[in-house]
Amino acid sequence: MKANHLINSIYRATEGEGIFLGRPQIFVRYQGCAIGCVNCDSKDTWEFTESMGKSLEEVMAAIHTEGLNGSIKNISITGGDPLHPAHVPHVLALVKLLKEKKYYVNIEAAGTRVVDDIFDLVDFISFDFKTPSTGVQTPLKNIAKMISQYPGKFQIKAVIADEIDFKKTLHAYIELESENIGRHNPWVLTPCFNNHEEFPMERFSQVMTWNELEGGFFRVIGQQHKWIWGPDQKQV
Ligand code: SF4
Repeated sequence: MKANHLINSIYRATEGEGIFLGRPQIFVRYQGCAIGCVNCDSKDTWEFTESMGKSLEEVMAAIHTEGLNGSIKNISITGGDPLHPAHVPHVLALVKLLKEKKYYVNIEAAGTRVVDDIFDLVDFISFDFKTPSTGVQTPLKNIAKMISQYPGKFQIKAVIADEIDFKKTLHAYIELESENIGRHNPWVLTPCFNNHEEFPMERFSQVMTWNELEGGFFRVIGQQHKWIWGPDQKQV
């Protein structure tokens, strides 16, 4: 059994953001990310730490245990960056096995890559649109590819720190979805809630107001787990 899945953690929690908000699921968090978002709230997942390797059998066993002996069948594969080329063959093997065992699999994608082998198999893709405050760019051609290949099977999530982030997301939406408004692919604005800060009430209400005034194309969904546990708590 090769311990080639670099795993930060496997845990049960209630989804705190995006369109699956409130749904209990098992998070499989891969260790290792080379994307480098400035406002990343999981910097502890960046290093590709070989000593955190687990075999596929160990990963499945942990999923079974955390899922209360298989009674929770919703999985979110996240990171780190589970679509980094170093992870892809292992994530693919995991997804195949999870689908054989009838799990519902969501994968969190950073927006920098479309990995068809994995996207074809999973049930849903949560695809980031990286806003200027992250310091990273999502090529619009990636989202255009998602729209043409995976309609109805993904959400776009954008972290909004300020009005520049909002405007950039709005322009991307209008460019890409102007003929498809409100039909298939939800776009979610996540008002930024940084580590070590108090709940950002002003930022949150501004994002809702901008959205209302510009036509209401987006769903504004905060990070519920941070309201409950605080912004620095892990595995919640
Ligand atoms: S892709 Fe995710 S884990 Fe990687 S730097 Fe960005 S926010 Fe952090």
